[in-house]
Amino acid sequence: MPAINDPTNSTAPAAVPFIDLVAQYQNIKGEVRAAVDQVFETQHFILGEEVDQLEAEIADYCDARFAIGCASGTDALVLSLLGLGIGPGDEVITSPFTFFATAGAIHRVGARPKFVDIDPVTYNLDPQQVEDAIDENTKAIMPVHIFGQCADMETLWRLSVRNNIPLIEDACQAIGAEYRGRRAGVLGTVGCFSFFPTKNLGGAGDGGMITTDDAELATRLKRLRVHGDVGGYNHVEVGFNSRLDSLQAAILRVKLRHLEDWSEGRRQNARRYSELFRSMNLLSSIDPPVTAADQRHVFNQYTLRIRGGMRDSVMEYMRREGVGCAVYYPIPLHMQKCFDYLGYSPADFPESSRAADEVLSLPIFSELTDEQLVRVATVLGEAASSATALKFPAGGVAQRNAA
Ligand SMILES: *Cc1c(COP(=O)(O)O)cnc(C)c1O
Repeated sequence: MPAINDPTNSTAPAAVPFIDLVAQYQNIKGEVRAAVDQVFETQHFILGEEVDQLEAEIADYCDARFAIGCASGTDALVLSLLGLGIGPGDEVITSPFTFFATAGAIHRVGARPKFVDIDPVTYNLDPQQVEDAIDENTKAIMPVHIFGQCADMETLWRLSVRNNIPLIEDACQAIGAEYRGRRAGVLGTVGCFSFFPTKNLGGAGDGGMITTDDAELATRLKRLRVHGDVGGYNHVEVGFNSRLDSLQAAILRVKLRHLEDWSEGRRQNARRYSELFRSMNLLSSIDPPVTAADQRHVFNQYTLRIRGGMRDSVMEYMRREGVGCAVYYPIPLHMQKCFDYLGYSPADFPESSRAADEVLSLPIFSELTDEQLVRVATVLGEAASSATALKFPAGGVAQRNAA
């Protein structure tokens, strides 16, 4: 019998990658190559027809009046803040449990990120804490639709209207997500999207998009992305260069045609995981993601919580077994060195800190086979039981003395 660790052991189960963009590409290769060739034939590489078309298609997809392409999701956030006139002296309320760019964009325009804690079930901003945090310096609320499920947008929208401050959706992980039948991107004043390759709609490089129903804001965003130029080298304000490439737009237009299928694949995989975890009796040690009844989750990440301080050992076990998994995000933003100046202390956002210690994301891309899903669930089950077995019993000396 071959040794367990022998890599030539042909009976070892195949590794499951965390994400497999090659599998996706193989299915759409012909379409992508044709779109790329088309752009090369025109030799038109910046903005232009392809970008105009993509903007129209994204606006249609999100049911927004306007969509404005830009160079990245980060730039979509920065442009939105600038377009809304937010800058030095202003505060923007957001979540500390998100990708860095959310708060980075607020800092970048000279404003101050003001963090409030998250809901422990959805990992999205807790609206009650947002309400408590609003004061005269608050100039916007920036919820993040984390992992692909919308924040509690009706409550946040009421706060935004009542206080007359804009609501900026960081929808970078949530294209196609729905909240009470309406799509991410039209649930606030502006919506910001990313086409980073691992997002649900990913380009062949960086790219971003902003959606809004506000005509005046759309006009301003369009000029801010080209140095404030309104045409003919007339610069009415100073913007920057944040244009979307024609090549990216052409590729994204191809992929947009498949987005609904891919998102449905992710949702089906999520349902299958839940089924497997239930049948394997794993629900005493893990909390799978919860989708609220009025939401359509698009699962940019399938993120569960591993209870009992076992997350890191579970992750190591799974990786040793060749099952991809990742932690989004291990350090809440109020604990990032560059935000020391904001003066937060570690204990300020206990749910964000607990999430950072307990979450684990599993492979969820739509091309996963059932065999792979079963393998991931099986290895997670093994990992959880081996982590429990290895865990040093709680209590120790103090408990024995008390007994
Ligand atoms: C990906 C992401 C961004 C940034 O998008 P880029 O295109 O990488 O600049 C911002 N916010 C969130 C929540 C993201 O996931």
